[in-house]
Amino acid sequence: MRIVIVTIFPELFVPFLETSLLGRAIQKKLMEVDVRQLRDFTDDAHRVVDDEPYGGGGGMVMKAEPWIRAVRELSVPGKTRRVMLSPRGRRLDDAKIRELASRPELLLLCGRYEGIDERVRKTVVDEEISIGDYVLSGGEVAAMVLTEAVSRQIPAVIGDPASVENESFRNGLLDYPQYTRPAVVEGLEVPEVLLSGHHAEIARWRKGQALRATREKRPDLLAGSAAEEGGPSSD
Ligand code: SAM
Repeated sequence: MRIVIVTIFPELFVPFLETSLLGRAIQKKLMEVDVRQLRDFTDDAHRVVDDEPYGGGGGMVMKAEPWIRAVRELSVPGKTRRVMLSPRGRRLDDAKIRELASRPELLLLCGRYEGIDERVRKTVVDEEISIGDYVLSGGEVAAMVLTEAVSRQIPAVIGDPASVENESFRNGLLDYPQYTRPAVVEGLEVPEVLLSGHHAEIARWRKGQALRATREKRPDLLAGSAAEEGGPSSD
């Protein structure tokens, strides 16, 4: 899969794309991420990408022409899904991440200032995505969230596909609690079942714990879900 990110701050992505699982995935060519400078798509000497809003009000608005040019030049019709990061978009979730990961190519538009001239959305954008009900100063962090979550859907990126299959939100549940050495921390012991070596018992305990955590922290995930069958086991 290929992701093209358009931004006025490409330097923000350098350590992000070189580090940890994502860095390794890019190095191994399991995925490609191409970060492009929006100012390269201007045609004036000062490479201006913003202007005052029509109708007044504070702040500046990103101009339409550089964006329209960038998206048209950097996307392939019928192949590239063009996604604008925006607090006005549909809220990102696991199902949307899986859908985006199934596409061969994404182009992510990172806004700044008061946002992007509405005519960009109307002409060259397929969908608007928000990473939550709050306002960031720019779309770059949102693009990183989306890129990292999508990368985890590529089986070879994670190494052990089972770790993705058991993650929160898969099967409509939060993840079960995890423990590692030492066996006692601050007087708290690791649940005995995890030391038993009995795989079926461990699986049953984990399923129960996942259900309990979901009921306590995110009951909305369980509404109308098949995962509700069977109650949680004890600690
Ligand atoms: N005036 C806009 C509003 O109130 O809806 C906010 C603009 S924000 C300061 C600048 C840019 O940050 C946006 O164009 C968008 O690209 C990005 N951004 C801010 N919050 C976001 C969020 N929750 N999800 C995705 N992108 C966001």
